[in-house]
Amino acid sequence: MLIQADFTPEPDFGFPNPHDYKVEEREPGKGKAVYALRDYKRGEMIARLTGTVLPYRTQHTLQINPGVHLLDLEFVGYLAHSCAPNVFVDMQALEVWALEDIPAQGSLTMDYASTEDFLYRQFPCLCGSSNCRGWITGRKERVNEEGLRHLEARG
Ligand SMILES: [Zn+2]
Repeated sequence: MLIQADFTPEPDFGFPNPHDYKVEEREPGKGKAVYALRDYKRGEMIARLTGTVLPYRTQHTLQINPGVHLLDLEFVGYLAHSCAPNVFVDMQALEVWALEDIPAQGSLTMDYASTEDFLYRQFPCLCGSSNCRGWITGRKERVNEEGLRHLEARG
């Protein structure tokens, strides 16, 4: 299923409103992240999701079901990972919720393992949280060889 490419979601229905966030490079060459442009309160719905539904994953898709992935390069596809995330992405309801108060300019972060069975690519995590897992995988996959070496070197 390919949703009409020129569809523009109406912010009035809770779809992401470009006035509420920006997608920007973290640092030159470091990849993009999503930053709040207003305060969010813990427990607040940040946005409903929309996008293109694909039968495969890419680096920026989120899993709806196995083999069903949502691609949204305007908003949710660029949420950064954190092992102590400040948003929860509900892929059944297609909603994003604030898990804590988020100040304007704060980056919105999610735990990729909360939605993905398998990642497009496993990666080392530098989120800095006290419970950082150090190497990020999907929830149904094992740490790969590179990850094992990374975790061993990290101690
Ligand atoms: Zn981490």
